[in-house]
Amino acid sequence: MKLDQVKSKFGKLRWYYDLPGKELGIHAFDFLGSRSIRMFPEGEKDSLESMIAECVKKYEAKSRTICEHCGADNAELCNEPPVFRWISTLCPSCKEERIVLYNKKVEEHERYKEKILNLKKKADSSD
Ligand SMILES: [Zn+2]
Repeated sequence: MKLDQVKSKFGKLRWYYDLPGKELGIHAFDFLGSRSIRMFPEGEKDSLESMIAECVKKYEAKSRTICEHCGADNAELCNEPPVFRWISTLCPSCKEERIVLYNKKVEEHERYKEKILNLKKKADSSD
């Protein structure tokens, strides 16, 4: 098996691989939003190809409930903007941490924005 790429796609692991002597070409069709059609190399039942395909399928599905941050097995898909700009798979604790961090960054951004506006006002009034 030649592994081309492993990545997170729509909150799950996605394996892109080729099998020697088997032409797969296209691994998946990904549509805007969250729909995706996944292609697996076909082989005869109980062949090495079908066992690899089943194994990949099993662990891609399992990754849907594994927290990408801490590895806990009670994760859920998180895609509520603006906190999550793309789909993440997080346990409730890591999701809460991410929301708290996001809110802190928003507050910090607002403070800097206010500081800059005040400096601009000062500069404008001294002209
Ligand atoms: Zn977690």
